[in-house]
Amino acid sequence: MSSAIRSLPLDYDLTLDCIHCGLCLNSCPTYRQSGRESEGPRGRIHLMRALAEGRLEADQDCVEALDSCLVCRNCETVCPAGVQFGALMESARDHLPAPGLLARGLRWFGFRLVLPHRRVLGFLAGAVRLTQLLRLPQAIAPLLGQRGIALAHLPVFPEANKRRNLPPICPSTSERTEAVGMLEGCVQRQLYGDVNRATVAVLNACGADVHTPQDHACCGALHAHNGDLDEARRLAQKTIQAFEDMGGEPDMRIVLNSAGCGAHMAEYPRLFAEDPLWLPRADAFAQRVIDFSAFVAQAERAERLKKQLAPLAPRKVAWDDPCHLCHGQGITAEPRALLDLIPGIERVEMPGAGSCCGSAGIHALLYPAESNQLLDAKLEEFTSSEADVLITANPGCQMQWHGGFSRTGKATRPQHLAEILAASLAQGPQVVSKAKPPKKG
Ligand code: SF4
Ligand code: SF4
Repeated sequence: MSSAIRSLPLDYDLTLDCIHCGLCLNSCPTYRQSGRESEGPRGRIHLMRALAEGRLEADQDCVEALDSCLVCRNCETVCPAGVQFGALMESARDHLPAPGLLARGLRWFGFRLVLPHRRVLGFLAGAVRLTQLLRLPQAIAPLLGQRGIALAHLPVFPEANKRRNLPPICPSTSERTEAVGMLEGCVQRQLYGDVNRATVAVLNACGADVHTPQDHACCGALHAHNGDLDEARRLAQKTIQAFEDMGGEPDMRIVLNSAGCGAHMAEYPRLFAEDPLWLPRADAFAQRVIDFSAFVAQAERAERLKKQLAPLAPRKVAWDDPCHLCHGQGITAEPRALLDLIPGIERVEMPGAGSCCGSAGIHALLYPAESNQLLDAKLEEFTSSEADVLITANPGCQMQWHGGFSRTGKATRPQHLAEILAASLAQGPQVVSKAKPPKKG
């Protein structure tokens, strides 16, 4: 062992869980792409252990092998030893340099200056919308290679009134049974405000008043996944505080319609494992977090919802499991069960529904060729399923699928589970919202 090599203080004990069986290899998208051991779960764990033991220098090759991981956690689902790969990778990346200029810029500018700040996010969303209306992304796309293709096929940011805050309380539209909290999110609110409104409509129809914190944006999931645990902790504290201050019922569930945010928020206690002041608060908070589909699919709520759903025009729909829902939270049956409630549509299974679409946080930006390759395989699987509509539940996945459909000229757009449920509700008896008009924000 060279004394010149500094050992990395990552979560070493987690590396010892791996028994090197290799059962995870074929479920790993990056291993299947490159065939290299260092770009599969077992090889990455081996690298992390060597870094922790001070046997290996964190050179460019090593950093890239770890950075190119999607953190999709597919390996966790198949691992017989219960390796906590996501936690391990977050711990390792926190101690490793970003692998290039773009990654460094994203960590500093995107994560620190943009995502946590609602006003900055809103301003940037408006500015990007303007460039999109002027078709500037399409004009510069040829200069940017694969990254330009992705840029040219981003969904268009909606107009300002669709990017406003939800009202602080949206009351139930059927007999009130409970209150819930909901996070509007950062990207979700700016790009997919309609998804948030659809989520509220479904929760209201289930009998829930929906409370949303008004001055909070980001849960810190992207920060934790991409090597900035300090900022992830700060944003977790802000999120916990925002929900503690919000009012409503003290133990009300916090419903998340973004798989990545939900998986991360349910794991907040890990961020505070060594902080006796914050750990109990993070624990109490995590107990309240629940995914939208898991919440609505609970028997009484689903029964109540079912009575209000009206037929949609016949179509085949395919559910694509977001990685942080199926691998991160173990939720696969609930979204399918909810789709099966909607009259008129037929749900079909898509091969490879639990495999990553290549979005993976900022992976699509950093590794556009590999990301597009993963997406192309998913597009083929969608075509082979003969579905008309793709349903998912994560803003990154929705953006990625949107890009794929747009790039390949498919006349369909991905929808969030809440959107198709809300569309079916809207066909039923019309309900007038009792919510006060939204504030600008
Ligand atoms: S998280 Fe996904 S990409 Fe990373 S090693 Fe595991 S299966 Fe492979
Ligand atoms: S399946 Fe689990 S124990 Fe086996 S090599 Fe992969 S990470 Fe290690």
